[in-house]
Amino acid sequence: MGKTTGFMDYKRVDLPVADPACRTDSFGEFHGALSPAERQLQGARCMNCGVPFCQSEFGCPLHNLVPEWNDEVFHGNWQHALDRLLKTNNFPEFTGRVCPALCESACVCGLYGDAAISVRDNELAIIEYAYEHGLIAPHMPPVVSGKQVAVVGSGPAGLAAADQLNQRGHSVVVFERDDRPGGLLMYGIPNMKLDKSVVERRLRRMESEGVTFVTGKDAADPATAERLLAEYDAVVLCCGARQARTVPMDNASAAGVYQAMEYLTQSTRAILAGQDSVCTARGRDVIVIGNGDTATDCVATALRQGASSVTQLVRKPAPADAAPVWPYRSRSGRPDYGQEEAIAKFGRDPRMYETVAKALETDESGALTAVRCLTAGKEHTLPAQMLLLAAGFSGAEPDVAAAFGLTLDERGRLGDSRFRTANEKVFAAGDMRRGATLVASAIAEGRACARAVDEYLEGYTNMNG
Ligand SMILES: Cc1cc2nc3c(=O)[nH]c(=O)nc-3n(C[C@H](O)[C@H](O)[C@H](O)COP(=O)(O)OP(=O)(O)OC[C@H]3O[C@@H](n4cnc5c(N)ncnc54)[C@H](O)[C@@H]3O)c2cc1C
Repeated sequence: MGKTTGFMDYKRVDLPVADPACRTDSFGEFHGALSPAERQLQGARCMNCGVPFCQSEFGCPLHNLVPEWNDEVFHGNWQHALDRLLKTNNFPEFTGRVCPALCESACVCGLYGDAAISVRDNELAIIEYAYEHGLIAPHMPPVVSGKQVAVVGSGPAGLAAADQLNQRGHSVVVFERDDRPGGLLMYGIPNMKLDKSVVERRLRRMESEGVTFVTGKDAADPATAERLLAEYDAVVLCCGARQARTVPMDNASAAGVYQAMEYLTQSTRAILAGQDSVCTARGRDVIVIGNGDTATDCVATALRQGASSVTQLVRKPAPADAAPVWPYRSRSGRPDYGQEEAIAKFGRDPRMYETVAKALETDESGALTAVRCLTAGKEHTLPAQMLLLAAGFSGAEPDVAAAFGLTLDERGRLGDSRFRTANEKVFAAGDMRRGATLVASAIAEGRACARAVDEYLEGYTNMNG
């Protein structure tokens, strides 16, 4: 097995994936795994190129040391691979499942005409091998600083900040408004993309290392905010960008209309409780408004709940079906997993381009019956008993910032480039600071913010950012 010419000797092999026509029967993850020996060959494909764009700012927001751990995978040194992976990424089991793999769009092997290295799958293989073979043991902080930090919000940004600060020796309590920690990893990204047992596994590990989680605590309550400011040496706000964009249309309050987050959260709650969701798509004609990850997740969830039909309204014209152009993410019209499943089930792509909803029709009880639409200037009506709004997010919810005496900027964000706010002991990170992005970027934010907090608490820092 030759490393430097591995990309010429071995073809890229992707993870086996369940057939889109069958996998909507369950909410389980639908990717299989390669054997460790097969994975080693995928590691061998990495060229150890002179300028690894994969780990640059055009590739990985976390600057993962991709060529280093690919090489360790190739040599079967799983412990070394793990050590190098964890150096920059606290939660590879999340990014290995849901990251759009910007690193692969920036991979030199891919840019020169061959298939990119399977970086994301290699990452997932390392962390899952580590869990399976007991390479991951709780790592207790080596020092105790005596400083107390409150982290508000337990999405990837809050979790990364908490993990970093805890390992640095600060005492960390994470306050979460929901009934379970995890943010969008728990309630948002659906179970088939990220099984909730994977999130629970990480939360348990963090608890065993000393992080405390308090759920059901809303920091937008001024009394709570006041207490956190009084009792903690620093407060880190990682409350996400949860303010949903509105979709102007007549009769928008019809029964059967849901915000995507409300719908996806209910669905995951029901799965975790082993029950049917209270807002189910079963037997309904479902319309989803939007064209991002959230809309795709709504399509895929509605299919699993047994929708009669699913149509996705996309305001923009259909994009050219081009390959991803480095260094940007693909904007091609190729179907994502949810659209693939809809095509397999109903024989047509659910996306209806250049289409906006103008008005909702209801029956005498106020329940949605149809959506009046405009497609490329032509009016028509689509039958619908459920409408899901996934038109994106306009920034953070203003109430938590207000409770701490802070104001969001005009784009709904909090915190400057050094994660500081107008109150010197309050920091901000993640989607709340930079607007809705990706899990990898949120983890990077949490790590860098932890560094800023440590510097504030100790007067210096030598933490990895
Ligand atoms: C449906 C959906 C699917 C996505 N899919 C992907 C994907 O496949 N890949 C990818 O990379 N990215 C994806 N993203 C984006 C990604 O999930 C986010 O960028 C990321 O989770 C942001 O992390 P965060 O920690 O900043 O915020 P969040 O994950 O939003 O966490 C914020 C937390 O703060 C809590 N909170 C808010 N207000 C308060 C308060 N007042 N008091 C206490 N707690 C509070 C919230 O309950 C939540 O737990 C998706 C986003 C959505 C909405």
